[in-house]
Amino acid sequence: MSRGMLDFSPRGWGRVFLWTTLGTLLCVVVVVYVDSFNFPHMNEAQFTRAMLVDIFLPIGLAVPMLLFLTMKLRELAIAHHKLARYASIDALTGVLNRGAFTSLVEAYLARIETERLTGGGAMLLIDADNFKSINDQYGHDRGDEALQIIARSMRDTLRDTDLVGRIGGEEFAVFLPISGRDQAETAAERVRLAISDAAFSPDGERRPLSVSIGGAVFERRVPLIDVFRCADQQLYAAKRAGRNRISVADVVSSIGSVARVSHAA
Ligand code: GH3
Ligand code: MG
Ligand code: MG
Repeated sequence: MSRGMLDFSPRGWGRVFLWTTLGTLLCVVVVVYVDSFNFPHMNEAQFTRAMLVDIFLPIGLAVPMLLFLTMKLRELAIAHHKLARYASIDALTGVLNRGAFTSLVEAYLARIETERLTGGGAMLLIDADNFKSINDQYGHDRGDEALQIIARSMRDTLRDTDLVGRIGGEEFAVFLPISGRDQAETAAERVRLAISDAAFSPDGERRPLSVSIGGAVFERRVPLIDVFRCADQQLYAAKRAGRNRISVADVVSSIGSVARVSHAA
């Protein structure tokens, strides 16, 4: 949201006017200071004239130059922000792209160690079921629309602090910071239900969408690759068990552990 003149961020007008005003004031102060050594030798008329020149000449020169410069800097900051956004957001669905998603999760995992964060976290891998048949039946554009609906349903269902990314064609990932197994299962089930309730009517008739979800839960720092591997194994388990369901396991005990597979409603 733009705060107009009160926006002092690099993209805000507040910064343009603040730097122009401060820069101009500085120019006036410097000119008056330098000229002040001549003041004792001036009469009153000369002093008045000198002050007028010392104040208005720097204002006349500095304001347009500083305005031009700070406006160019603002334009650069806006362009930089747009580029950063394009580089981290998936163009079709508006969620994080794979690179941005994994680097944000990596950063969170690193903070668990350096800042001794407690509460762990969970990763969910969400794969659309039988998606190829949607493309085959309704065409690629309707398939794209279904992917947008899936992404929107996830975003609307999750907390603002949860990360949502598209990590492959019809595969998404969600990272839930500070979440235990129960919270991860609840979030996964909410996502599954939200997607199956979403309105997708490619040919006028409602066509339910479904996803399978694999979840990996961890309490302390674990390598990202292990988190992905565990979630992927659970996703595979959910697919094998019939699709449209979730399966969640703990990362540490995932090898050989029995995951809980929740069945479709
Ligand atoms: P499963 O339940 O086993 O996951 O079956 P599936 O059909 O979803 O899996 P499969 O990997 O066989 O097919 C994935 C399909 O997703 C094939 C591909 O055309 C489609 N797809 C991938 N990316 C996109 C995209 O950006 N847009 C559209 N419309 N389709 C995509
Ligand atoms: Mg699929
Ligand atoms: Mg897939």
